[in-house]
Amino acid sequence: MCLSRLIFLFFMSMCIGHVQCSPVTNHGNEVFGDLYANAINYAQENPETLEAILTFDKAIIEGDIIMPSDRNAVDAVWPAVNGKVHVAFEIHPDLVNMKDTMLKAMDMVSEHACVSFHKRSTEPDYMLFYPSKGCASYVGYQGGEQILYVGPICNVGNVAHEILHALGFHHEHTRLDRNEHIQVIESNIQTGRHSNFKMKDGKTFGIPYDTSSIMHYGGKYFSKNGLPTIKLLKHGSDMGQRTRLTPQDMKRIRVLYQCVGTGEMDDKTSKEKEDTFLKMFARLKRLYLHVPGVSANLNTYHPFG
Ligand SMILES: [Zn+2]
Repeated sequence: MCLSRLIFLFFMSMCIGHVQCSPVTNHGNEVFGDLYANAINYAQENPETLEAILTFDKAIIEGDIIMPSDRNAVDAVWPAVNGKVHVAFEIHPDLVNMKDTMLKAMDMVSEHACVSFHKRSTEPDYMLFYPSKGCASYVGYQGGEQILYVGPICNVGNVAHEILHALGFHHEHTRLDRNEHIQVIESNIQTGRHSNFKMKDGKTFGIPYDTSSIMHYGGKYFSKNGLPTIKLLKHGSDMGQRTRLTPQDMKRIRVLYQCVGTGEMDDKTSKEKEDTFLKMFARLKRLYLHVPGVSANLNTYHPFG
């Protein structure tokens, strides 16, 4: 769906919900212009809420979580083979222009955890990136073809957020201990969207609440008036960021998927980094085997003493 059509739908949905829709007066064009600009700004800043706002053909909760119709899959993990999880994926042909976004998102997730992604051949279980209006996902492993919806405004971080849902993670702001860290301002939440802010009992693995988590809502998600729906109780956090996985995000994945060395990710990855380096070094030596000076230098160089 093209961006302008998406924005139009979004604009109409805001009007239908009597959100930010003043009557059109003599200055109607100005009002329309403001609303249109507001709708664009909102859509760009909160793409994970679009699926819930614009979609009527599937049950969406918390903006981007699809309710399973036939089972409770919460926290279900993707199966591991020899301690590693290899998730097969397919990208719908209509998303070919956004392929890089999905590949980078998968890299962002797999970089520090024992979960990797590869293009599907015949695997029965796989993630299918599918075009839609916003970004949305089931929570946890569903089995078979598991759809992750990707809209035109979803960026790398948004898609990584959806992948973490698919791996079994909920929104950080729904944790039972959230009121020690944030304040939810109910009066600024769009009508009918309060359930997106409901607290839930779920596994936290003893990992401290993380206002910078890639799974945390931004401050104006589902705002009806442009004012915050979530306020930080302490300063200095980039709540709602979608640029990186935090150390706690990485730890969460590593604990749920029982990666080796779940306590300190650097301990675990150092062995893998060493192995990778040695492989590259061996390749370098082969490449320069017939270059006398370089070959001799490489043969006397011992990277790890
Ligand atoms: Zn989400």
